[in-house]
Amino acid sequence: MFAISSTLSFFVWHMSSTVNLIPTHIEPHNDHEMKIAWNAGDSYALSYEEMRFQCPCAGCVDEHTGKRTLKREAIRKDIKPKGVELIGRYAISVAWNDNHSSGMLNFDRLRSLCEEHGKLLESAV
Ligand SMILES: [Zn+2]
Repeated sequence: MFAISSTLSFFVWHMSSTVNLIPTHIEPHNDHEMKIAWNAGDSYALSYEEMRFQCPCAGCVDEHTGKRTLKREAIRKDIKPKGVELIGRYAISVAWNDNHSSGMLNFDRLRSLCEEHGKLLESAV
């Protein structure tokens, strides 16, 4: 387990990698979507509801069966992130306004969410 720092903020950071897709910029895009930019040069808008729904933590997914126990309709309509924390060099954790903090959402999973559920804002350069 990890602790969410008490000072949450949105962030931009720089990491060099020629192999892995790494998010370089994560911030609110509007009232409903997060903008996630990648080192490949592309960026996506991903809905807060979907991000919240896909929370990988043990409170939202049954650890033994891998089955999602969180119901989509249980997510509040005004769900918004309070902040995003970088976990090491491979994952993020989102703190939500329903006082839930997601488990670690690794970059690969975040990328899949962008590709499967996101809206392409800018194409890769
Ligand atoms: Zn969760």
